[in-house]
Amino acid sequence: MKTKIARLLGEEALHSEEGAKVLDEAAEIIRRGGLVAFPTETVYGLGADAVNKKAAKKIYEAKGRPSDNPLIVHIAYISQLAEIAGKISPAMKALSDAFWPGPLTMIVNQREGEPLIPRETTGGLSTVAVRFPSNPIANALIRESGRMIAAPSANTSGRPSPTSGEHVIEDLDGKVDMIIDAGSVDIGLESTIIDLTEDIPVILRPGFITRGELSKVLGEVSVDPAIEGVESSAPPKAPGMRYRHYAPKARLTIVEKKSASSEPVFERIIKEALSFAQSGGKSAIICADENLSHYEGLDGVKVYDIGRFEHDDEIAQNLFSVLRQCDCDGVGRIFSESFDTPRLGGAIMNRLLKAAGHDILEI
Ligand code: AMP
Ligand code: MG
Repeated sequence: MKTKIARLLGEEALHSEEGAKVLDEAAEIIRRGGLVAFPTETVYGLGADAVNKKAAKKIYEAKGRPSDNPLIVHIAYISQLAEIAGKISPAMKALSDAFWPGPLTMIVNQREGEPLIPRETTGGLSTVAVRFPSNPIANALIRESGRMIAAPSANTSGRPSPTSGEHVIEDLDGKVDMIIDAGSVDIGLESTIIDLTEDIPVILRPGFITRGELSKVLGEVSVDPAIEGVESSAPPKAPGMRYRHYAPKARLTIVEKKSASSEPVFERIIKEALSFAQSGGKSAIICADENLSHYEGLDGVKVYDIGRFEHDDEIAQNLFSVLRQCDCDGVGRIFSESFDTPRLGGAIMNRLLKAAGHDILEI
């Protein structure tokens, strides 16, 4: 398939004549059941008409995604949530007032009677994941198409999520009808997912919106134990959280600080990275900006600055692109610091631990 690549860089591009043409064409592709990759504020999404079974199936094919892993339905009007769920409950209302449009996905029951969203989109579940994104291109595409758009992250299943148009092109060129490249996204981590189908709402995936922020709006909020790394026999409630994910090609080990001092962590990372390099491989270190000077002048070791620990939104924004860069640079072994920062640390470490297949060295 020939993929049309359209570049819309900057807010003004969307409102230009060219921008209007691109949106027109993208909306038409969605209406006739095709696939369009587009930016959202979290990561890029791979979109199709959420109620069109055949279109939803194409998403799974293009990504190589397991068919039991449901898609998030993206909307641009609150009334579309009511169409899906049959009503707006007080919790839905409170959350949408506080966080929509934005990086929050709600899991809701489908309306009674004939469900609107087909099994092909929900992975066979009776519940649906719904999000109202704030990115202006995403918003305009949903409105213009007149559809709700099912969109998982626009990467090949298992690879780090795409945070730039280049990442999407790497994975999906030739597999989708159109890619809208709008440069880098704002947040860089997928949405927080909250399940509203239980008595007490449950966080199924941590993200930019934190448990504390959700609790302020909802009162008690729990966290799916399967994502907290707690030993549990129950599988995660978000099917997608089961799979190995976000992984670079190289083996990745996280070196975690268990004592008060960071020095032993720096020393161990340097020792391991040099030892791999001396055996003829290319090794990499991922570190916080504040620690960069500790890793200067190491032969055969590439050092990636992931952003400032004190500004963890930078780390969130850079995480997936650093993992992809390791692949591009042909790195064979990666050692990373841990980034358990106060605000976004939970969400960042959830992704990094998955990327590492929970390979941790505690120092
Ligand atoms: P992605 O869009 O690729 O970031 O993945 C969407 C995530 O939402 C996956 O982890 C899915 O398993 C999860 N998800 C989607 N729909 C549901 C649902 N109805 N119940 C629980 N999790 C869901
Ligand atoms: Mg994904």
